[in-house]
Amino acid sequence: MVKRVDQLDLKGKRVFVRVDFNVPLDDEGRVTDDTRIRAALPTIKHVLEKGGKLICGSHLGRPKGQVVEKLRMVSVGARLAELLGDAHRVIVCDEPAGDGVKKVVADMKEGDVVLVENLRFNAGETKNNPEFAKQLAELADVYVNDAFGTAHRAHASTAGMVEHCAERAAGFLLMKEIDALGGLLKDVKRPFVALLGGAKVSDKLGVLENLLGRCDALLIGGAMANTFIKAAGGDVGASRVEEEKVETAKRIIKKAADAGVKLLLPQDAIVAESLDSASGSEAAADAIPAGQMALDIGVKSREAFTEVIAGARTIFWNGPMGVFEKEPFAGGTMAMAKAVAASEGFSVVGGGDSVAAVNASGLANNISHISTGGGASMELVEGKTLPGIAALED
Ligand code: ADP
Ligand code: MG
Repeated sequence: MVKRVDQLDLKGKRVFVRVDFNVPLDDEGRVTDDTRIRAALPTIKHVLEKGGKLICGSHLGRPKGQVVEKLRMVSVGARLAELLGDAHRVIVCDEPAGDGVKKVVADMKEGDVVLVENLRFNAGETKNNPEFAKQLAELADVYVNDAFGTAHRAHASTAGMVEHCAERAAGFLLMKEIDALGGLLKDVKRPFVALLGGAKVSDKLGVLENLLGRCDALLIGGAMANTFIKAAGGDVGASRVEEEKVETAKRIIKKAADAGVKLLLPQDAIVAESLDSASGSEAAADAIPAGQMALDIGVKSREAFTEVIAGARTIFWNGPMGVFEKEPFAGGTMAMAKAVAASEGFSVVGGGDSVAAVNASGLANNISHISTGGGASMELVEGKTLPGIAALED
């Protein structure tokens, strides 16, 4: 069982919250998008309201175990201070852990927030070095993880330090992810529809295999669909195909049929000569002309997928339907964003590009859960144990 932060008594305790403040910065080192900082506010405010001494830690960029001036937490701390308002002072440390940080924590006054330096300035962070983990744990009585994006990594701040803290819990953001994504692997409301797309079958194999035994319908689009169409005997022209995965695709098609899972592949496609073509034309998905590649799902496929999604009570979507970054090939992905948003069922979207597409569609508010983790959300749906979550178990 993983406890949630509001199940612990925090009064007067030193509470280390592993946050995800890995935000984009401009050339001057200013925060250009504070979404991730704001996303951690419910947990942060809860700790402060309950009288905990709040210590936050995050990584920022890829400093690879060294101090990189541009990747210091100072501007992140400044933004956090703005968001928290005058009642709180945010003290930004110049190292991730150690005697100096311990002293800062010991001297904290009521309402103070300590933000330790970029955790990845210490090479021990990503190596889950036991010494560094102990140093971090010495800062806290209670450990809280609210950084889902790194929960699939066993690092010092996500795994190693946890057992050395007296108590542990998930933050609100992490718990929401566990409930939504983990919930897909439990008793779901049926029909349960999985919409999968994106670049490669090989990236999605774990998700495909795990959902195959659980969902009622599997809709496949994106470049990944080409490998399936080829496996089913179609001609995909110059489309992107993973030759070495054609046999796997055949096996999945058979497994779906045996399990009574409805498997839908695109019937038609938007094709062009290259990703840079200014426009595309329509073709049957299994008879693509030589030299042409499928870059989006076609209109009939969108309609067929939309109909299945409309009947769903649970939906999981990962992977764009086409090269959505380019306007001529974004229509299929946008149509699916509309279909998922229109659903009355419980809808979950995961994956970096898929989430970007949903945000671009302007329909994000109509989706039940949009995951903040790319790799972590895939691993959870694959049914893997995430080290950052396992470490919180009592
Ligand atoms: P996510 O990040 O949501 O898990 P992926 O990274 O698997 O998604 O896939 C997204 C990428 O797949 C995008 O860059 C998109 O351009 C590409 N893609 C989707 N469909 C096609 C296609 N038919 N041909 C080539 N690339 C495609
Ligand atoms: Mg991606």
